[in-house]
Amino acid sequence: MITLGFDIGGTKVAYGAVVDGRLIDTTQVPVPTGDYGALIALIAETVRGSGTSVDAVGVGVAAWMSADREVVHRSASLGWDDMPLRADLARAIDLPVTVVNDADAAAWGAHVLRGHPAGTSMTLTLGTDVGGGVIVNGLLITGSHGIAGELGHLIVSTKGRECRCGGTDCLATVASGTALINHVRALAAARPGDFPALLQSTDPSNLGPADVARASEAECAVLLAEAATGIAAASAIVSRVVDHDTLVLAGGVSAIGDPLRQAVLAALQATPRIGNVHPIPEVYLIPANVPVGVLGAADLATRS
Ligand SMILES: [Zn+2]
Repeated sequence: MITLGFDIGGTKVAYGAVVDGRLIDTTQVPVPTGDYGALIALIAETVRGSGTSVDAVGVGVAAWMSADREVVHRSASLGWDDMPLRADLARAIDLPVTVVNDADAAAWGAHVLRGHPAGTSMTLTLGTDVGGGVIVNGLLITGSHGIAGELGHLIVSTKGRECRCGGTDCLATVASGTALINHVRALAAARPGDFPALLQSTDPSNLGPADVARASEAECAVLLAEAATGIAAASAIVSRVVDHDTLVLAGGVSAIGDPLRQAVLAALQATPRIGNVHPIPEVYLIPANVPVGVLGAADLATRS
């Protein structure tokens, strides 16, 4: 079976073919300027130009959607409201189409990468925002209104930081790539003498998540620990609902690599657990260049 997976972000569309459960290749193109119709046309042209006999298409999109995943109720990054994306795409390409929240697609892609374990996992996609996905006993949980697993907007601190969702102190305010880089950039701009190693290698305006790890300055370690503490707090909340055995970290911030994993493990160890005997979850880091969103969307298309 051949499926095409699309991962539609705020600025880029990544896509690739999955053949018998294996991702063959991926390509990235900018989100087309224009409207909803331009993106439908891009996907249709890509499917027609793929040169293979495609059986189904899966699309992950950063959006709140109806429980049956027929209608995208709201995508802030794309500016869409109440778009019947699945039916419009199916009509354009005349193939079965599955639409899924992008973080749910990433969670499912990580699940596929890990060989479909029977257990329970939570996935955080640490990027511009923080997305989440929850898999319970091998089943992806999407909820009654399509917003299950919005883990980036669990409240994990009391510092009063405003979140772009309209709330305060969400996980996204400490653990998104946007939050980390903005904090480091502000510190480096205010006190460049305190960030010699960072500023020798990178212009502050071009900082990326990996720079946070490369910088040895104490403030960067503090920010990483703060992000890790937020992640551990979110994990503690989720564990009281689904008792997960694995915490998967994906997205651009995972480019930090082992320092992130070690910081999260330390924060998990320091987080109170029920009865203090409840085991901490295994931490599984998805390399930032592995397109789990594409893999997950394509694999889910085989299951609808
Ligand atoms: Zn929020």
